[in-house]
Amino acid sequence: MNAFENALKQLNKAISHLSLTPFQIDRLKNPERIITVNFPVKMDDGTEKIFHGFRVQHNSKRGPFKGGIRFHPQVDMKEVQALAFWMAIKCAVCDIPMGGGKGGVEVDPKKLSERELENLSRSYCRAIANDIGPFVDVPAPDVNTTPQIMRWMVEEYIKSEKEKRRLSEKEKEALRATFTGKPVDDGGSLGRTEATGRGGSFVLLALLAKTGERLKVKGERLTVAVQGFGNVGYYIAKFCHEAGMRVVALSDSKGAVVVNDISKDFFDPRVILKNKKEKGDMEGLGKKISNKDLLELPVDILIPSALENQITKENADRIQAKVILEMANGPTSSEADEVLHKKGITVVPDVLANSGGVTVSYFEWDQNLKGEKWSESDVNKKLKNKMESAFDAVWKTSVEKKCDLRTAAFIVAVKRLTG
Ligand code: NAD
Repeated sequence: MNAFENALKQLNKAISHLSLTPFQIDRLKNPERIITVNFPVKMDDGTEKIFHGFRVQHNSKRGPFKGGIRFHPQVDMKEVQALAFWMAIKCAVCDIPMGGGKGGVEVDPKKLSERELENLSRSYCRAIANDIGPFVDVPAPDVNTTPQIMRWMVEEYIKSEKEKRRLSEKEKEALRATFTGKPVDDGGSLGRTEATGRGGSFVLLALLAKTGERLKVKGERLTVAVQGFGNVGYYIAKFCHEAGMRVVALSDSKGAVVVNDISKDFFDPRVILKNKKEKGDMEGLGKKISNKDLLELPVDILIPSALENQITKENADRIQAKVILEMANGPTSSEADEVLHKKGITVVPDVLANSGGVTVSYFEWDQNLKGEKWSESDVNKKLKNKMESAFDAVWKTSVEKKCDLRTAAFIVAVKRLTG
C-alpha cells in the first residue's frame, strides 16, 4: 500500500462517522492541483542539467495551501500527494486558516556543492513561482531543506515578482510571507526551531492530565524512549526531560542507546547533544541497542521522531509503551494501528502531535503580513493555546464517537474542511 492509499484509509474511517455527500468526499480525496516541473540547474563544471520536481496543492477551502518542500533522491509523487493531504488535515486539526500542500525535487542534495544547491533552490522556486504567493501557496522547509534554502527561495521569488511589476518596500516585505521557516534575520519567527517539539510536549502534557493516573507506576516518573535525534527528536526529548519525565533511550541513524538501569537512570538530552556534536555519535553514553530494540523497550511513552513506517504489523505486537506520541509523519502503518488499538495503547496521531511546526509557520506568515515581530514568549503562549484547544477538540470527539485519537483528529478536521 502506498502512502496515499494509507492516508485515504485513515480518511475513510473518519468518513464512516459522518454524513457527507459524494461531492464532499470527492473534494477531500482529490488534490486540487498537481504541478510537475522540469527545470535547468547550472552545475559547477559549467554544464546545465534538468531536474524534476512537483508541487501538490491538495485543498484550499480554509486558506492558502501550506506545506514543506522536500529534496530527496526518491521523491515519489504518491508520497508527496499523501503529505499534501496530511497537511490539509493537520492545518484543520490545529485550526489555522491554511490548506494543504507539499513539494518535492528528485535530488540527492549531499551530492551537490553549496553553489549547485543554491542554483537548484532558486531554479525550482522560479519554476513554481506563478503558482505560489502569500495568499495562494506558502511553502516551508521539509526533509533536507533548511532556513538558508528558504532565504534563497524567497529572494528569488521577490526578484521574479519585481520583473513583472513595480513593488513598494511594504509590498516587498509582505511577499516574504510566501515562504515560512526562514532565518530569523530574514523574517523568520522566533520559536520556530523548537516549535514542533514544544507543541508535541504541550499535547503530551494535556493527554497526561487526562490519563496520567492510569500511567503512573507506583508514583514514579514516567519513562520515555525517543527514536531520532534531529530537530524534532532533540526538542521533544528536552521538553520531556524538563517536564520531569525520565528519558531512558535515544537514537539516530547510527543506532540507539539505553541507560544502564532503566528502573532509575535517565539521560539529559542537552548533554547527549553536546557529546554527539563533539564525538559524532552517542556511543559510550549508555548501552548500545538497535533502533528496532528501542521501539520495543518497556517504557511508558514511545516517541517516533525520525521516519515513516517504523511501527508495522511486524513489530506492533511487541510494543510495550502505553502511549505513542507520533512526532514523525506517518510512523505507524494502518495494520499496526489496529493492533495497537486492540492492545489498549494510546496513539497520539502525527496530524495532532507534530502540528506545532505548521502552527508557528502560520504565526510567521501572519507576522510578515502585518509587519510585526512577536517575542518568543508571545509565540510560545499562542502555540500553547492552539495545541491545547486542538487536543481538547480531538479528545472530546474520541470520547463522543468512541474512537481512537487518529480517527477523532480526522473527524475534527473533516468537519472543518467541509463545514
Ligand atoms: P532531521 O533531519 O532534523 O532529523 C532526523 C533524525 O532521524 C536524525 O537524528 C537522524 O539521524 C534520525 N534517523 C534517520 N534514520 C533513522 C533511523 N533509521 N532510525 C533512527 N533515527 C534515524 O528531521 P526532523 O526535522 O527532526 O524531522 C523528523 C520527522 O519529523 C520527519 O518525519 C518529519 O517529516 C517530521 N516533522 C518535522 C517537523 C519539523 O518542524 N522539523 C514538523 C512536522 C513533522
